[in-house]
Amino acid sequence: MEKICVAVRVRPPVAVSQEISNGNHWRVEDNHISLLKSDGTPISGVSYAFDHVFDESCTNARVYELLTKDIIHAAVEGFNGTAFAYGQTSSGKTFTMNGSETDPGIIHRAVKDIFNKIQMMSDREFLIRVSYMEIYNEEINDLFAVENQKLQIHESLERGIFVAGLREEIVNNAEQVLELIATGEVNRHFGETNMNIRSSRSHTIFRMVIESKGKDSNSSTNYSSSDAIRVSVLNLVDLAGSERIAKTGAGGVRLKEGKHINKSLMALGNVINKLSDGPKQRGHIPYRDSKLTRILQPALGGNAKTSIICTVAPEEVHIDETKGTLQFASRAKRITNCAQVNEILTDAALLKRQKLEIEELRKKLQGSRAEVLEQEILKLRNEMLKYELDREKLEMQLEEERKSHKERDQCIREQQMRIDNLSNLVTFPECDKNAGQGQNSGSQCSKEEFNDSSSITREDFFRTPSFKAAPNAFVAKRSNYSRHTDYSPLPDTLSNVADEDTWLKMNKGYIADLDSIQMTPARKVQSFPSSDMTPGLSSDNHRKEVENLTRQLELITEEKNELERKHSEQSLLNEHLMEEISELKQEVLVIGEIPQRLGKSVAHCKEILKDLLLTMQSFVPDDESSTAKLLSSTSEIVISLFSNLESYLFMDKDNHEFFPRNDSLVQEHCKVLSESIRGTITSLVASEKLAIENKEVKNTICGCHHKW
Ligand code: ADP
Ligand code: MG
Repeated sequence: MEKICVAVRVRPPVAVSQEISNGNHWRVEDNHISLLKSDGTPISGVSYAFDHVFDESCTNARVYELLTKDIIHAAVEGFNGTAFAYGQTSSGKTFTMNGSETDPGIIHRAVKDIFNKIQMMSDREFLIRVSYMEIYNEEINDLFAVENQKLQIHESLERGIFVAGLREEIVNNAEQVLELIATGEVNRHFGETNMNIRSSRSHTIFRMVIESKGKDSNSSTNYSSSDAIRVSVLNLVDLAGSERIAKTGAGGVRLKEGKHINKSLMALGNVINKLSDGPKQRGHIPYRDSKLTRILQPALGGNAKTSIICTVAPEEVHIDETKGTLQFASRAKRITNCAQVNEILTDAALLKRQKLEIEELRKKLQGSRAEVLEQEILKLRNEMLKYELDREKLEMQLEEERKSHKERDQCIREQQMRIDNLSNLVTFPECDKNAGQGQNSGSQCSKEEFNDSSSITREDFFRTPSFKAAPNAFVAKRSNYSRHTDYSPLPDTLSNVADEDTWLKMNKGYIADLDSIQMTPARKVQSFPSSDMTPGLSSDNHRKEVENLTRQLELITEEKNELERKHSEQSLLNEHLMEEISELKQEVLVIGEIPQRLGKSVAHCKEILKDLLLTMQSFVPDDESSTAKLLSSTSEIVISLFSNLESYLFMDKDNHEFFPRNDSLVQEHCKVLSESIRGTITSLVASEKLAIENKEVKNTICGCHHKW
């Protein structure tokens, strides 16, 4: 986006006016223009700033250099360009655009500059076409061909907005163009006696179409310099005088001219006003209101680089017109355009461009970031898969939910049906009985029972379809288990529903299949009190049924809560038991180690006893003495006992079977040992006795000898 370049040019003053003057005058300072009083003080509110403000001494060369040159160069590069001169008659528009012999104007300089530039651009081939037209009385006339009058404006995708039938001359050099312009001027003069009047009432547009193409079309690396064709349009416009129609003082033909001029310039003013509002407030831009604005459409807020030179007359008499011109210039300054190179792509150029783009993308992929990108892609893919799975899971859950919901619905419906059935069973027979007496009595029943017609609908609502469809044609067989006419036992499930009288009433006129009724899934329902069985009060029954069901639900809920409570208690108990089990396991482990420890202690004791007995034996001098024998046999027994004990303790420790299995063996062993010790003691006692007897004999013998 770029702003339109706006400049103001003050032409040199002409012969001093004879009119009375206040001495107000314009002052140009840098890029400011302000109105001053005769004493040189500025008049407030009449000061303007622009991109450039050229004073009367400024030449066309400088104006071209500062204002137009860039646009002309850009046009060679492929940008659309427009330069137009706006201002009142005789303010110097034509002088600025066409110039003089000594100071050529913008058109002349632009043409020369374009060809110079083209010659410098050796890598491109150019094709330049020029046309020259005039808009006079809202008619477009071709200034290159007088016969081409009243031309029409058309628009196409390829050419944009163009004047159909306008002669376009292909030109090769600047001189050729300047000659053509001169011819155009001659044509303009043709048939006109007063050229000045016409020139101030008409707009002239000199147009150059610059086409270029890269010379090296074999190059595959730079598509823009080869196959793409750039086409730009350059408009150099000399507008009609912007003075107000009243000022012309014209009448007749001149009035008509003035109207048209006014229309075109008014349209230009409107377009510029709208465009200066900014892109958001713009709304519709009335380009089509005049031929001028239509032709200049790309230059105003479109795809073009545009410059406006507003020429003003410095005389005091023109102050109002100058102010008007400066206000127009101020508004134009706010317009932004969006210029871009106009390229027409041939098929080959398109292919090349796409190839290059693909190549670039591939390079980017193969670059250092390629791996990261691939990982990113992989990550994203994985995430996508995860989401997909989650979604599927959720879908399945939803489906299940739906199913269960459906089942619940079905259940509720069935329940409702049963309730309805029961209600009908209770209410229908009475009504039907009445219905059997005739239709009137049927309606009477409804009337009597419900007292309004809407209650009939309510009754219908509570009836099952089978009852509704053919109440009188209802036939069913009697229960199989009883054929007694005076004894018709109530089925268990229905005993909760109606008392015997009601049941009999209900069966009057019908043969119901009691077996099939019994087949109905049993439901815990509280008996309806007989007082509630009044026929026709099905809604009450229904309500009660619902209440019963609610009570049941409450009971079930309580039961459920109780079960939950028990369950939690059980869980606590389980936890407690688990803790005890683990404690017991620990104890078992400790107990399991006891025999081993005992075994070790026994072995230790055995060793000590062995040592003790051996020491004792060493103190006995005679091995054959009874003491020695007793010691030896005692130590034998004791060691044997300890050994046995030891072996028992170590035995089957893995099987945790210590004493019970070997109990008989131990007893056997003890028996042998006790017998052995008893034997030893007996032999010791016997030997002791013998010794005493021997001693007594000896003593007796000794006594005898002594006597003797
Ligand atoms: P317009 O085209 O706006 O009606 P012209 O360009 O015909 O006005 O100018 C009117 C007269 O003023 C012409 O004789 C022209 O030579 C002269 N003139 C305008 N501007 C300048 C200028 N900057 N320097 C010298 N003479 C000028
Ligand atoms: Mg002019």
